[in-house]
Amino acid sequence: MVSAAGLSQRVAHLSPSATLSISAMAKAMQAEGLDVCSLSAGEPDFDTPDHIRAAAIHALQEGKTRYGPTAGIPALRRAVAEKLQQENGLPFRPEQVMISNGGKQTLFNLAMVLLDPGDEVILPAPFWVSYPEMVTLAGAKVVRVQTEEARGFKLTPEQLRQALTPRSKLLILNSPANPTGAVYSRQELAALAEVILSVPGLYVVCDEIYEKLVYGEARHISLGSLSPELFQRTILSSGFAKAYAMTGWRVGYLAGPQPIIDAAITLQSHSTSNVCTFAQYGALEALTSPLSAAAVEKMRREFSRRRDLMLQGIRSLPAMTCPQPDGAFYVFVNICQTGLSSVEFCQRLLQDQQVAAVPGVAFGVDHCIRLSYATDRATLEKGLQRLEAFVHSL
Ligand code: GLU
Repeated sequence: MVSAAGLSQRVAHLSPSATLSISAMAKAMQAEGLDVCSLSAGEPDFDTPDHIRAAAIHALQEGKTRYGPTAGIPALRRAVAEKLQQENGLPFRPEQVMISNGGKQTLFNLAMVLLDPGDEVILPAPFWVSYPEMVTLAGAKVVRVQTEEARGFKLTPEQLRQALTPRSKLLILNSPANPTGAVYSRQELAALAEVILSVPGLYVVCDEIYEKLVYGEARHISLGSLSPELFQRTILSSGFAKAYAMTGWRVGYLAGPQPIIDAAITLQSHSTSNVCTFAQYGALEALTSPLSAAAVEKMRREFSRRRDLMLQGIRSLPAMTCPQPDGAFYVFVNICQTGLSSVEFCQRLLQDQQVAAVPGVAFGVDHCIRLSYATDRATLEKGLQRLEAFVHSL
């Protein structure tokens, strides 16, 4: 059936990104002068470190303003490959790396080059809002697997086994996870790996964009580093936005088996061409400068303190529970005792207390809400006080 506006069937059921639209709504309300506490944005409130900004300015001044290679500037592809080898134990060659406009475009490209109608993609819920839409746009089928709060919202090998069919093509694994902050341990990954390797032709895309933001005892492990067999099945998606506070720069990367990366580069050559050339020089600086480690660590420590503050605040509230997030910068809070749906809860919270949060239904779980702690401590404290007042008013 043709829609009244003549739109394609492909977009007929496509909804706007909830994370982006709620953050935009909060910003618009703030611009009108309303005192909104935005706990919705998945965006660090820090500025990009100075040395990274200086590198991009220098690139601009040097005239790095022209088209570049579709796959990314060679120096950046090399630096990414080196980083993946050294930090993550993933022996990718530079040719196996493609630079895209943020992690989001890497995943979109991947869906387009890997998935056919009828293919099934296993998606542990809660999930990041854009995964199912990308899979559906590629014509493939999303197979949701509900993870349990009691297990820290992590996929278990049994759940994975049960979700498999002869059409299973791809598993999406996001660790540290958005929206739950779950971080898979080496043992948990090894247990999943056994199941993955028992299915010929099943790929895993590891979205590791939050890898640098882990707290306490948690360590980030790349699934593909566990064995050479697993490495062959692994596609890695990441970017600079979260660790280096570079959300607006739009620089991400995809690394994987050569035929997949080659196809993704061909696809990108017909869509966005190359990533903004001087932004890539900033990203190169982020990866190669000795100044970066301290800058990232400073932000990570602050996120860690905010996480503790947030967790303490949430856990002191009646009617709310959440597992401890070990990474990223979100808490995924169970609100089922309030009797409200996640949309009702967030709408009323915004209306009554001017606190912006993202309804869990956007992440596939309607009895939870996502709160981001990528904002200053004063806002978090105010947000928690208002949340408390809201819960007491119910
Ligand atoms: N990934 C961030 C979030 O979940 C940024 C917005 C988006 O791209 O979804 O809030």
